[in-house]
Amino acid sequence: MRPLQPVRGTQDLLPEVARRHRRVVESARAAAELYGFAEMATPIFEFTEVFARPIGEHTDIVAKEMYTFTDRGGDEVTLRPENTAGVVRSVISNGLAQSVPLKFFYRGPMFRYERPQKGRFRQFHQIGVELIGVPQPQADIEVIALGRRILEALGIGQRVELELNTLGDAADRATYREALVTYFSAQAAELSEDSRRRLHRNPLRIFDSKEETDQQVVRYAPTLADYLNTDSRRFFDRVRAGLDRLGIQYQLNPRLVRGLDYYTHTAFEFVTRDLGAQGTVLGGGRYDGLAELMGGPALPGVGWAAGIERLAMLIAPPPPPPSLVALVPIGEAGEAVALSLAEDLRDSGFMIDLGYAGNLVRRLRRANRINAFAAILLGENELARGAVTLRNLGNGMQSEVPLTELPERLRVAAGEEILF
Ligand code: ATP
Ligand code: MG
Repeated sequence: MRPLQPVRGTQDLLPEVARRHRRVVESARAAAELYGFAEMATPIFEFTEVFARPIGEHTDIVAKEMYTFTDRGGDEVTLRPENTAGVVRSVISNGLAQSVPLKFFYRGPMFRYERPQKGRFRQFHQIGVELIGVPQPQADIEVIALGRRILEALGIGQRVELELNTLGDAADRATYREALVTYFSAQAAELSEDSRRRLHRNPLRIFDSKEETDQQVVRYAPTLADYLNTDSRRFFDRVRAGLDRLGIQYQLNPRLVRGLDYYTHTAFEFVTRDLGAQGTVLGGGRYDGLAELMGGPALPGVGWAAGIERLAMLIAPPPPPPSLVALVPIGEAGEAVALSLAEDLRDSGFMIDLGYAGNLVRRLRRANRINAFAAILLGENELARGAVTLRNLGNGMQSEVPLTELPERLRVAAGEEILF
C-alpha cells in the first residue's frame, strides 16, 4: 500500500505554521479595518464561467491550472484559483452595485494546478482586498498604502519593494497590441510554443511567461508607456503623485503585466529577494472592465491579493500562547476534581491544559513542551486540606495554595511571567 500522504501540492498546516498564517491574517484584517474594509467570503467553488472569461482563456490559470469538474448534478464548477472574480460575481448577484463604494477584505484557500515548489502550492491561501465603485486614483493609492501597511505590520517592510506599471485603458491596449504582434512575430522563432500560440490571440500574455527564452525576447519588446493616451497618462501621474505624497517608494517596471486579463491602468507587485523565484508576495491592480465583462453593470474596481504561505515564510515566528497553565492530577483524589477545577479556572479566564494520563514526570514534561508558565499539582494530601501545589515552571519554585486563593495567585504569577 502507498504510504498515506496528502495530495501533491497540498500541505497540512501544523500548529507552528498555522500560528504564522493566523498572524498574517490577523495583521491584515486589522489594517484593512483601519481603512474601512469589511471582511466577506465567497464560496470556494463557482460555476466555471465565473473564472474562465474574466481571467482569460489564454492565461496560464485558465489554460492549465484550474481544478474544474462536472458535479453530480451536471454543473461545471471550478475551485477558485483567485478571488477577485468571485467577489465581483457576488456584488452582481447580491445587487450591491447601487451601494458603492464597496470595500471588502477576504482570506481563504485558492487552488491552482501548478508545479509545486518552495512558495508555490496547489492549494494555497490568500488575503486580499477589493475596492469597488471608485474610478478615481485615490482608490489605487489607498489600496497600495494598505498593502504597504500590512507588510510593515508584519515586520517585512524592509524586505519588499513595490513595482508599479500602468496597463492603460482598452483603447491603449488595442493600439499597443498591434505593435506587440508585429514585434513578437518577427521574433517568433525564439519564443516558446505556448507564447507562439498566444502571439495572435493575446500577445500581452507573453510578458507573464516564466520561460527563459520568452524573457529574452520580452526584454526588448515595445512597452505600453509609448502608447498611452492623455487620459491614461494623467491617471497614472495622479497615482504616482499620491504615492509620492505618502512617502511610498516604488520602482517603475514597464514589463509588469500580471497574470490575469482583466487589469486596466494600475498594476503593482510587492516583491522580495528572499524567496527565490517565488518573489512576489502581493500583487494587484485596477480592473475597470471586469463587472461588465461578467454581465453586470459598469463598475470600476481596484484590489490586490497576497500569498499567505509566502508571507508566513518571511515573518518572525509568532510565539505560542504565553499564558497556558497545566493542571496535573496526581492519583484518584486529583482525577476526581481535575475536570471541574479546570472548568472553574477557565471561567475565571485562565487557559488550562489538563493532563489526562501518565506519571507526574511525563505530565510535567508535557507542561514544558506546551510552554505553560505554571503547573497546578493536585495531590491527595493538599486536596484534603483544600489546597493545591502551584509550581512556577520558569524557576521550579513551588508552594501550597488554598483553592480559594488560586485564581488570585495565578493572576499574580501570570503578571510576573509577562514582566519577564
Ligand atoms: P506568480 O507569478 O508567483 O505565479 P501570480 O501572478 O500567479 O504569482 P496572483 O494571481 O497575482 O499570482 O496571486 C497573488 C499572490 O498569491 C501571489 O503574489 C503569490 O504571493 C500568491 N500565489 C499565487 N499563486 C500561488 C501558488 N501557487 N502558491 C502559493 N502562493 C501563490
Ligand atoms: Mg502564477
